[in-house]
Amino acid sequence: MNKKFIQSSLLKWFKRHQRPLPWRKKYEPYHVWISEIMLQQTQVKTVLPYFERWILALPDIRSVARAKEDKILKLWEGLGYYSRARNLQKAARMIVKKFVGKFPRKYEDILSLPGIGRYTAAAITSIAFNQNYPVVDGNVIRMVARLFNDKRNTRLPSVVADYWKRAGDFLPKGRARDFNQAMMELGALVCTPNNPDCDICPLQKECLGYKKGTMLSLPNRGKKTKIKIIDVVLAVIRKGDKVFIQKRPPTGLMAGLWEFPGGKIQQGETPQSALRREIMEEMGITIKNLRPIMKIRHAYTRFKVNLHCFLAEMDKGKIHLSFAQKGEWVRLQDLRKYPFPAADVRLILELPKLSWTFFGPENFDITLIT
Ligand code: SF4
Repeated sequence: MNKKFIQSSLLKWFKRHQRPLPWRKKYEPYHVWISEIMLQQTQVKTVLPYFERWILALPDIRSVARAKEDKILKLWEGLGYYSRARNLQKAARMIVKKFVGKFPRKYEDILSLPGIGRYTAAAITSIAFNQNYPVVDGNVIRMVARLFNDKRNTRLPSVVADYWKRAGDFLPKGRARDFNQAMMELGALVCTPNNPDCDICPLQKECLGYKKGTMLSLPNRGKKTKIKIIDVVLAVIRKGDKVFIQKRPPTGLMAGLWEFPGGKIQQGETPQSALRREIMEEMGITIKNLRPIMKIRHAYTRFKVNLHCFLAEMDKGKIHLSFAQKGEWVRLQDLRKYPFPAADVRLILELPKLSWTFFGPENFDITLIT
C-alpha cells in the first residue's frame, strides 16, 4: 500500500471537499469536545441543530458546569444516550475544579474526563490541538477494511487493535487534525456503507476492495445481534386541565428524564391490566376510565418499543412514588418545557389533538389515533 499516496490524496481531498461544520471554524477545544460527544452514535446532520442550540445556551465550559440538570437534558432531548449529557456536565465541573475552567491539552488529562474513552480523547487531542494521535471510528474501520480488502471480523478486539495500529502507521506527523478528519469525512461522504462512490474516490487507485469488487461485503461485522422488541404501557393521568409526569431515577436507563408513568407489559397481561399493576406499584393509586389514545412504535439503537398509550383518571389512593425521584401535575402546554425520552415526545406532540378531551364534558369519546 502506497502510504505517501494515501496521505497526500486524502489531505488534498479534504481541503477541497470538507463540510463547513461549525466546530471547524476555529477548532475551539470546547466546541470540538461538544461535537465529538454529540457525534458518538449520531450522524452529523442530526447533530448540527443540537450543537448550535447547545452553544447558544451554554457558550463555555463554566456555563455547562453551572447549568441545572433539566436544562442539560432538555438541550439533549431526542439525541439519545443521555448519559453522554450527564457526563458532559460532570466533566465540565471537573475541568473547572482541576484545570481552572480551561479544556486540558494533554491526552491523559482528556482521557481522565467522564464520558471520554480512547477514541474521543484521540479525536479531541488531534482535532482541537493537532497532536499526533490516530483515530479509529466506524467510518475509518469501513474504509480501511475496504482499502485492504480485509475480511476479518471487525467486531473482534484484536482486529480493532490492528486498525488502530494501521491508522497510526498512516498518520502524517504534524497533520493529524486534517488527516484524521479526512479519513472520517471520506468514510461519511464517499466510502458509505451501502453505496460507496468509488468513481470519485481519491483512493480508488490503491483500493484492494474496489479492485476485487468486494467493497459492498466489507467490513465483515460478524453475526447480527437480534433487536429486542419490548411492549410498554403508559398512562396520561389527568386531573382537571393537568396531567401527571414523573422524573426518572438519577441512574440507569434514561436517568433524570421526565416521563408518563407506566412500565413493561409482562407475559399474560393485557395492556390495561399491566397499566393498573404498574400504576399501583409505582404510585400507590388505582386508576379508572382507561381509554386507549395511540400506539407508538419507536426504535432505539439496541431495542424497539411498542408503546401503548392510555388516557386515565385517578381513582383511589394517595400518590406515593416508589420509583421516580419526584412527580408533578403539569398543564399540556407546559409539557414541552421538560426533557422527555423520544417516544414520550412523540406522544406529547399528538396530545394537543386530543386537548378538547381535557377541558370538555366528562363522558367524552376518545378517537384512537393509530
Ligand atoms: Fe471506498 Fe470505493 Fe474508495 Fe475503496 S475506492 S475506499 S471502496 S469509496
